[in-house]
Amino acid sequence: MFSADDTIVALATPPGRGGLAVVRLSGPHAASIAERLIAGAPRLEPRRATLVRVVSRGGGGSGGSAGRGEGEAAPGAAAALDIVDEALVTRFEGPASYTGEDLVEFSVHGSPVIVAEVVSAAVAAGARLARGGEFTLRAFLNGRLDLTRAEAVRDLVEATTPAQAKMALDQLQGTLAERIGEIEGLLFDLTAKLEASGDFPEEGYRFISPEEALAAIRAARGRMEALLAESRRGRLLREGITVAIAGRPNVGKSTLFNRLAGVERAIVTAVPGTTRDLITEAVMLSGVRMTLVDTAGVRSTTDPVEREGVLRAEKAIAAADVVVVVLDASAPLTEADADLLDTTASRARVVVANKSDLVRALRLGQLTETRSAAAGAATAGEDAAAREDVAVSAKHGSGIDELIRAIARAGGVSGGGELPHISNARQIELLGRSTETLIRLEDTLSLGGSNMPEELVLADLREASDYLREVTGKRTTDDLLDAIFSAFCIGK
Ligand code: GDP
Repeated sequence: MFSADDTIVALATPPGRGGLAVVRLSGPHAASIAERLIAGAPRLEPRRATLVRVVSRGGGGSGGSAGRGEGEAAPGAAAALDIVDEALVTRFEGPASYTGEDLVEFSVHGSPVIVAEVVSAAVAAGARLARGGEFTLRAFLNGRLDLTRAEAVRDLVEATTPAQAKMALDQLQGTLAERIGEIEGLLFDLTAKLEASGDFPEEGYRFISPEEALAAIRAARGRMEALLAESRRGRLLREGITVAIAGRPNVGKSTLFNRLAGVERAIVTAVPGTTRDLITEAVMLSGVRMTLVDTAGVRSTTDPVEREGVLRAEKAIAAADVVVVVLDASAPLTEADADLLDTTASRARVVVANKSDLVRALRLGQLTETRSAAAGAATAGEDAAAREDVAVSAKHGSGIDELIRAIARAGGVSGGGELPHISNARQIELLGRSTETLIRLEDTLSLGGSNMPEELVLADLREASDYLREVTGKRTTDDLLDAIFSAFCIGK
């Protein structure tokens, strides 16, 4: 399925016009095919960028190579040469290349016409169009990248925030692979000792006691749990957070939504209950992708349309990573406000005293008292950073920067501190399964006392290691590789 004995070609830069476009060729015939695309067919020195004239050997313009046999396009057939572009060409000799194979990059002028001619000339000379992710797949199959690094290539290319790019680069540099490798090493040592003990059953000699085995398993599990503890933040930074803006009608939710989204999308009116559906907008705030959801006024109503809106609002609030509870600072706290504060008390939330440009009827101090009374003991032990009060004026813009920072803090995605080393759902899931297997094994060992059933222990250890090996790609299936690499774009 994943044959690498042919030579592939693709545009590695985005399609369209630009200063440059890079066409990449990889495979056993990359150098000879590239040489045939160059006037004078020079021999390309490895790792030296050379300015060349790229030619199409078809003659008579683009597409003219159709039907021409390979043998006819021999170097020196000057009459048939058609100069396509001036380009910088660099050859990388395998295995010291991105793919681990012979690889040639043409930096041509960034014109779709030129790119099409170069690619079709390469195909006419024997290359095949690459599939999405095929360059990185070859790098993986040739041992240039483990699976976490290959996934990092895709994440880096697709990053939309600085934090996402940093996390991807960290993974590309191998931090995650290294940590997983260390844990695998611990399990491997333990397996080796247990197997050795099993080899000499008559002697009754053990290379490791049950207590030592248990300690080693706990150490491995501890490391995995440390990684998993980072993963929630990793996922949020990677996927962004959902922020629901909630509050009774007319407190200024839509105005705040528009202020945060920077666009006039939600209808702002002085008549309560006008936002009857959810309005969402994905925005980048303080380097974090946030999906803002403006909810309908949360209040009891008999209007069926509005009631549907309220139901959706409640669902959106329940699903959000952060709830922004908007209060009207110019009016005393109502029962509806208190209810909302109550129902969101245990959530990651920010309480906003809006309309702070008007005469204050509401004091944040008063708010805090009401909230702690309403929340009772339910919030005991909750992270203090997850509950914040901010005074803003959505209409005039004051306090908005502080609010954005408070939202990021409440969502656990504020800047500063070390970035998580794991964020990818596939990796998190496998690590979770490996951890569960070790927990099960610990139970078996603790129950068994000094009577250690080696075979059972070994089976669980193998299972736990297999999950780890799947993270780094030491263990894979064609389907898994297909699923991962088909998500790449062509040329990567
Ligand atoms: P929603 O029903 O909660 O979405 O509230 P809207 O955003 O529609 O706002 C209701 C009314 O309050 C409108 O007349 C807004 O102009 C006004 N409003 C919103 N925010 C502020 C603010 O910060 N200061 C003042 N003075 N008025 C505001």
